[in-house]
Amino acid sequence: TSFAEAKFHPTIVDNIKRMNYSNPTPIQKHAIPLLMSGYDLLACAQTGSGKTAAFLLPVLSKILTKMSRDAAPLANRPGARRTKASPQALIILPTRELAIQIFDEARRFSYMSRVRPVVIYGGAEMRVQKEQLARGCDILIATPGRLVDAMERGAVALDSVRYLVLDEADRVLDLGFEETIRRILLSSDLPRDEGLHTMLFSATFPPTIQALARDFMMDDYCRLR
Ligand code: AMP
Repeated sequence: TSFAEAKFHPTIVDNIKRMNYSNPTPIQKHAIPLLMSGYDLLACAQTGSGKTAAFLLPVLSKILTKMSRDAAPLANRPGARRTKASPQALIILPTRELAIQIFDEARRFSYMSRVRPVVIYGGAEMRVQKEQLARGCDILIATPGRLVDAMERGAVALDSVRYLVLDEADRVLDLGFEETIRRILLSSDLPRDEGLHTMLFSATFPPTIQALARDFMMDDYCRLR
């Protein structure tokens, strides 16, 4: 299997070429066709496996295809500036370093497109991140604590989220974020219906992750390991 078989949006095809990715890694080979077909995914994947592109490429491609079909996205429409970011994709991950890394990859893959990724994490000034969010956000990459903070301050609404990714779930739990994740899942305006696609990546699958996965994922998902 090659990237060409995935039927990505043309902008994504161009950006894959620009990044010199010629062959998909094993996780990409397995995950991309499933995600492009609309399946949810629970995958055992280590850092360095190419798992980031495995979920970013299908999610970005689907957002771009929808944008091409619809009129200008609300966030980018002149005069219709919302102060609250309403991302279509939400990627939750454990650390600031990982957040910045995934944000960089999302920016490279969305180059020359209208998709706007934004990253928020703890330990940095909220004011600056709020300004970034207010300028529009299609893909939000966030650490759990800062996400809840941004939601509580009214800077982010989750009612438009259609793609929800929990990356490095075992590290998220190791860092003590279980309660925070459950709060995001339960108390938010997240649409928990068949319109929400969920993806969970973890290097290990102890019972705590299995329990979290049961609450995090929608009913039908493919498990890759
Ligand atoms: P990750 O496991 O997502 O952190 O990715 C590890 C590294 O591999 C990152 O620097 C990616 O840019 C790179 N990478 C991911 N997929 C590919 C690919 N198909 N071909 C070449 N490099 C890749």
